[in-house]
Amino acid sequence: MFKKILIANRGEIALRIQRACREMGIKAVVVYSEADRDAKYVKLADEAVCIGPAQSSHSYLSMPAIISTAEVTDAEAIHPGYGFLSENADFAERVEQSGFTFIGPTPESIRIMGDKVSAKQAMIKSGVPCVPGSEGALPDDPKEIIRQARAIGYPVIIKAAGGGGGRGMRVVHTEAALINAVQMTKAEAGAAFGNPAVYMEKFLENPRHVEIQILADEHRNAVWLGERDCSMQRRHQKIIEEAPAPGIPRRVIEKIGDRCAAACKKIGYRGAGTFEFLYENGEFYFIEMNTRVQVEHPVTELVTGIDIVQMQIRIAAGEKLPFSQRQIAMRGHAIECRVNAEDPWKFVPSPGRISMWHPPGGPGVRVDSHAYTNYFVPPNYDSMIGKIIVHGDTREQALARMRTALAETVVEGIQTNIPLHRELMVDKGFCSGGTSIHYLEGWLEHHR
Ligand code: ADP
Repeated sequence: MFKKILIANRGEIALRIQRACREMGIKAVVVYSEADRDAKYVKLADEAVCIGPAQSSHSYLSMPAIISTAEVTDAEAIHPGYGFLSENADFAERVEQSGFTFIGPTPESIRIMGDKVSAKQAMIKSGVPCVPGSEGALPDDPKEIIRQARAIGYPVIIKAAGGGGGRGMRVVHTEAALINAVQMTKAEAGAAFGNPAVYMEKFLENPRHVEIQILADEHRNAVWLGERDCSMQRRHQKIIEEAPAPGIPRRVIEKIGDRCAAACKKIGYRGAGTFEFLYENGEFYFIEMNTRVQVEHPVTELVTGIDIVQMQIRIAAGEKLPFSQRQIAMRGHAIECRVNAEDPWKFVPSPGRISMWHPPGGPGVRVDSHAYTNYFVPPNYDSMIGKIIVHGDTREQALARMRTALAETVVEGIQTNIPLHRELMVDKGFCSGGTSIHYLEGWLEHHR
């Protein structure tokens, strides 16, 4: 096992990885930007190294700064967390070429899955069902684009092959709007992701977002750890996640879970990963694979009892998975609310000093956050400042625990979206379960 790991990230996930290292007796080195020098995990770190200014491009996205820190601190492996360099195949390659272990899949896997067109092609080959769509990237010829859209049927969605974070997508309802939409998405994709390639999918009108968590080792073993329902989204960004997905028959989930594990073996996948699907009318349609730990991984940890971050580290160290599919059991129900520093109704970011931070507690309540009283939320990064996660024997108990947890939570000095979560936890639609990805936006229109 590694003696020392470098954490190439910030915020709650840096603390989460640090906690996993502590529990395993591994020393953790954290890197931080000037804006993060007062973060909790920096204060708690075995070693902390400032790698640059607040601007991510000069700190958390600087490959030379991170790799040279691993060199001077004698770290053996690098955990990339999520976001930043976590799905950058060139980074994974440079880490390995510099003699360190990248805690994640091979650069080849990251490269294939990072391009959604090649990811879909790999999935079709591995027997994973996909959203009906264009045959690969869209060509330049407008006639051909129109032909493909007609074959798929309107509405369609134009998506950037290199897109992520809910950006680079455009829904098209009519042929008249098609060519212009393709050109605009291409231009945006080129500017934002450095890859102008776009593809087309059938736009599903009422799907749910259901994803499968997998773990695979380098000895060709792969298992799936159940599913998560992440349908509560605003602008394609998740805000509430839960496991299991309410109301979907287990045999339907098992069938898709087995397909995902089989696909991992087929493509030689290694590490933790997530297959994201849209679920509509009893069918699963693959949309993309994330080759890293996800924000919402704790709901799976609570229902399976498996520590996903520790498993990532064990797999990277070459260990075999310590369980088979048959040994994985799901118990109870878990819900996660993402706490964002933002206006709860207008969604404007609200960085600044937290004058009072009082997290909730009690049975079945977990809080993953680097925040504390007097912590300054920097304006430079994502607005998520933590996650409240609850576990109960049933969905009803989990909901009740989340209501109590949210009622106990006090955050003063900045605005957060906790008032929104409080309302959603008593909303009839959410409480009955199984709402679609469009539910929250509709709800916001009618309730506010
Ligand atoms: P990203 O990598 O930016 O997260 P995804 O491909 O995972 O992009 O899609 C993000 C979200 O966009 C999905 O959860 C869903 O809400 C919506 N979406 C994507 N593709 C479709 C589609 N074909 N039909 C309807 N909604 C879609």
